[in-house]
Amino acid sequence: MTAYQQSGIWGPHNPGQSGKASPADARRTNRSLIFSLLFPDVQLSRAELGRRTGLSRVAVSDVVNSMLSCHLLRENGRESNGGKGKRGTLLSVDPDTLHIISIDLSQPHLIQGEATNLLGEPVMHVEHALRAVNHVDFDTINEVITPLHAATQNVIGIGLAMPGVVDGNGLVKRSTLLGWRNVDVRTPIERRFSLPVTVNNDATAAMFTERLFGKGGPNMMFVRLRRGVGGAVLLGDVPVFGENHAGGEIGHISLDPQGPPCACGKRGCLERLVSATSLHARLQRSDERMRASILREAGTYLGTALSMPVGLLDLADVCVYGQSDIVNDTLLSAAQAQLDLLTGSSFHTRTIIRRCECEGEITLRGEALSVLHDYLENR
Ligand SMILES: [Zn+2]
Repeated sequence: MTAYQQSGIWGPHNPGQSGKASPADARRTNRSLIFSLLFPDVQLSRAELGRRTGLSRVAVSDVVNSMLSCHLLRENGRESNGGKGKRGTLLSVDPDTLHIISIDLSQPHLIQGEATNLLGEPVMHVEHALRAVNHVDFDTINEVITPLHAATQNVIGIGLAMPGVVDGNGLVKRSTLLGWRNVDVRTPIERRFSLPVTVNNDATAAMFTERLFGKGGPNMMFVRLRRGVGGAVLLGDVPVFGENHAGGEIGHISLDPQGPPCACGKRGCLERLVSATSLHARLQRSDERMRASILREAGTYLGTALSMPVGLLDLADVCVYGQSDIVNDTLLSAAQAQLDLLTGSSFHTRTIIRRCECEGEITLRGEALSVLHDYLENR
């Protein structure tokens, strides 16, 4: 197993692009590896880190010292060994010295922003009501970041979670919600605040929270049922972005070419059949019995849509995020039954569809964790 595989989600997200590994690459990989063993709240000695990583004493000491000096780690007294031999100093992640600014632009009426610690926990929260629904411009984004930036020390970067397709260079290629096409959101904010800026799709950001603080494993799909249907895929702990950075975007795959018309021009798109907006409209004018049947039908469509990615990629689980009146047992058990029907086989372990149980602002937290990932990767 390579160090990259061992370092899990803290490892490089664009493996193979850097060509030949330089000493600086090796140092970064070792740093990610050590960080992954300690995050979020594990305490280990240098000797134990050496045993678990296979790195030499000198290499561990070199990496740990640099991480202590930039406040990624801290020392916490000595390990207990029952009085036998020399006891090592315990190291852990230092959660509270460095900070991150995280902004969520995925909601129609407001922008939310947080300054967080290194675990993505909020230390300050800001909300900014939009003057018109979905009307976001750079002045508005700056107005949210400015108070967080002014009140927070030692900020390592700014993260923006965007509804839409985002490439690896901070370019929002397409956001139907915001009406944006090919907008470079990173450069102006980097210049304005002189900090590195990370930009992600909102479902990808939320998936980081599920992976690091929920039950999500290294091979999972994250699906978000809100106004639209968003998705993100994690494979071997690396997010799958695809040819056009639209990986995971399953909302506009048509399941029923004779179905209801969709804003994209097709008919019977998954988004039209299972998004919270579509379902709320139908549920509001139905009685209880009809409501259960609408949710079962939506769950069946969702199970059908998920069968191909789940079977193709051998995903262990699918985590669905959304309000509990939509993402509930009725919808999820119908989705599970359909997925079992379509994918069950002797070589395929049963894939579980379950509700996301992470609490709090999972998009803001995940975006902060993504900033931390980029900081470890690029510094
Ligand atoms: Zn569509």
